[in-house]
Formats: sequence, structure tokens, C-alpha cells
Amino acid sequence: MTAPMEKLRNQGIGLYLHVPFCQTKCSYCDFNTYAGQNDRIPAFIDALAWEVRLWGRMLGRQRVRTVFLGGGTPSLLTPGQLGVVMNAVRETFAVDTDAEVTAEANPEDVTVDRMAGFRELGVNRLSMGAQTLEPGLLKLLGRRHTAEKVPLALKAARTAGFANVNLDLIYGLPRQEPQHWRETLEGVLAWRPEHISAYCLTLEEGTPLTQQVRRQTVPDPDPDLAAEMYEVAEQTLGSAGYRHYEISNWALPEMESRHNLVYWRNEPYLGVGPGAHSCLFGHRFWTVLAPDAYVHRVARWRAEPAFVTPDLSEVTLRHVPTVADVERIDERLAMAETAMLALRLAEGLEAEKFSERFGVHPGDVFGTVFAECAALGLLDVTQARIWLTARGRLLGNEVFQRLLAINAPAAGAAAGGGHVS
Ligand code: SF4
Repeated sequence: MTAPMEKLRNQGIGLYLHVPFCQTKCSYCDFNTYAGQNDRIPAFIDALAWEVRLWGRMLGRQRVRTVFLGGGTPSLLTPGQLGVVMNAVRETFAVDTDAEVTAEANPEDVTVDRMAGFRELGVNRLSMGAQTLEPGLLKLLGRRHTAEKVPLALKAARTAGFANVNLDLIYGLPRQEPQHWRETLEGVLAWRPEHISAYCLTLEEGTPLTQQVRRQTVPDPDPDLAAEMYEVAEQTLGSAGYRHYEISNWALPEMESRHNLVYWRNEPYLGVGPGAHSCLFGHRFWTVLAPDAYVHRVARWRAEPAFVTPDLSEVTLRHVPTVADVERIDERLAMAETAMLALRLAEGLEAEKFSERFGVHPGDVFGTVFAECAALGLLDVTQARIWLTARGRLLGNEVFQRLLAINAPAAGAAAGGGHVS
């Protein structure tokens, strides 16, 4: 085994599996997901299991700490279909016995039988899209579930044995008042999920909701109200015992999302399935988007075993049939991304960890940005740790853009060495 492969084995990776199908398409969604194509799921499952096996061989039965089935709507899969994929994962990767295995779910699909099947396959965390409990807003978002369905789904998940459930929520919606939002939060808190994600709506280009706002058939979301709603979430969830551990995420003690922490700590992950992103060996690469093209590319990879090689250079990655493109992450970008992602977390950027990884104190690289942002009231800065203030959590992009824009000195010049993880 090569030295980078050995290092990766010690560290372990996060494994993301993308299921690009939904029953219907929500009005705000620009994810790589397709409605009305459920007849393509069987061929897709076969391809996904093969892509998992091919990567598993390429990475030499690599250690996996977390698995995340995202989408799309993985809860559309039957336990039989999910089993094909999970068997491939366990056959070709060394999955930790205590690995966190999450599946995203739509409340409409959550029945006791289906979820018991998921549990038997090792899924131990469910992430459900509740979004809002206000019926008019659910309709505006084009969600296929009703507000009443959320507690029923949660009850079914509990009966099936899920002791770790996240509910996804959205705020900052057109026509949403802070009072609506408070009621949604209070409704959700009554069910005591272990984890709550609350994202501010982004109007994505090309989505039906964005077009409605442009045509003024739906009012523009009000950013001041969205900021107020964020503060309502901080107060309401905080006083109910949830720790605000990441800009948009709250958890009961010890129930943080371990998979998402892999991203926020800028640790290695492999993404499998159409449009999935990976970050390994100093490269970011992503898979072709369209499910049909994906199925064909996997078939090509299966027919060309030469592409199963432990040499994971940029040249090799560019030749992997499922890979659409590759970006090299140089030392400077790796430092900026590590700092930016760490600042999303309440724990912030720990100078010692950064120095261990890059051989340089973050203040030596980003000192000017830190000083500027501290003066603007966005950051608190000490020698040991840097973190976002309450104002900084609302205006995080102000900080992140500065970190990415800085012309940082190379670590070699700053500290006489360093390495890319
Ligand atoms: S269920 Fe999720 S992935 Fe599917 S369309 Fe709606 S928001 Fe997008």
C-alpha cells in the first residue's frame, strides 16, 4: 500500500452516495435530482453498486467512518434496492463497526416496514425534510408531504428503531413571518429530534420559485426578516438544550452529524453516484450529472479494468470513466478552505490543529483578514483559536470571501515546509 493510501486508512473517509431521484421536484430545488424517472432506479442501483465496488478496489478496501445516502430521495428505495448498495459498500470498504450511516428521507415514504428494513441494513440515522409546518408555505415550496405527516413519520421511524433523527427546516421564505417560524420551531421541539438543520432559503437560478419571484407573483424574501428568524432559531433551540454547533445546525449533546463534520473539518471523502463530489489526495473531483450518462460510464469502467489502479494522480483521476472533472487543491487553497470550513463551526479554527496540518500558524497566513474581520465585529481572535461572533454567523460570507481571496504565502516559504493532506 502506498504511503498516502496508508495515511488515508488511519484517518478513514466519509462516503457519500447520491440517489438522483425524487417523486416530484420542489419549487426551490436545484439539486441534481430528477422527478418522474423512477423506472430507471433498478439500472441505477446496479450501476451505483458497481461504482462503489470499483472505487473500493481502487482505494484498497479503504476505511470508512461515515456513510451518507443523500439525494434526491433515498427513501424512495426499497430495502432490497438499498441492500444491493450497502452490500457493495461492506464488501469493498472496511466500514467502522460504529460508523454513522445516514439516509435522507421524505416524510411521505417513512413507514415502519421500510424503515425497519433500512435499520437492518445498518442505517442508524435518518435525516427528514420537514422544511416548515405552515401548510401554505409547504405548498409554495412544492413539497409533497403535509405538516401532519411529519410527526407520523417520526413516530414510524422511532418504532422502527431510529434513535438518531435530524429534521431539515427552511426559513426566510416569501410570505413567512417570524411568528410562523417560531411556531414551526416550537412544533418541531415538541417531538424532540436529536438534530435540527435550519437553512435560509436561497433563490437558485432557474427554479420555479425564483421565476415566480422574478415575475412578482410571489414576493421577494425579506433579508431583514430572515436575519430576525435566524435569531429566533438561536434563542428557541438554544433554550431547549440544542447546541448551535455549526452556522445552520443544532444538536442535542453528542448527536452532531459526524458525516457533515468530515466536510467542515476538511477531511477526506469519496462521493459516488451522479454529480457526487469527492475530496481525496489533494484533488476535488466530481461525477457526471445525468443518470443515463452515469449508468453508461459505469458500464465502461467495468469493461476497462485498467482504470482500477492505486495510482491516484490527477492524470489517473481524469481517466476514470465516471469522473466529469478534476480540480487540484494546492496548499494555499487547502489552507483557505480549511479555515473557512472550520469557522462555520462553534469550535472555530484551532491554531494548533491548523499548524499540525500545514506547518504554519493560521495567523501567519490570514492575519490581515482576521484583523480586518475582528475590527468589523465578525470574528473573535486569540492566539489559540479564531471563531465567528454572533454578527459573524449572520454575515459569514463576508469572512469566507476574504479568506478565499487572500494571496496567502506558500507554507514552504512561511514555515519551511508543510504538507497537503
Ligand atoms: S425532495 Fe429534496 S432533493 Fe427532491 S426535489 Fe425536493 S428538495 Fe430537491
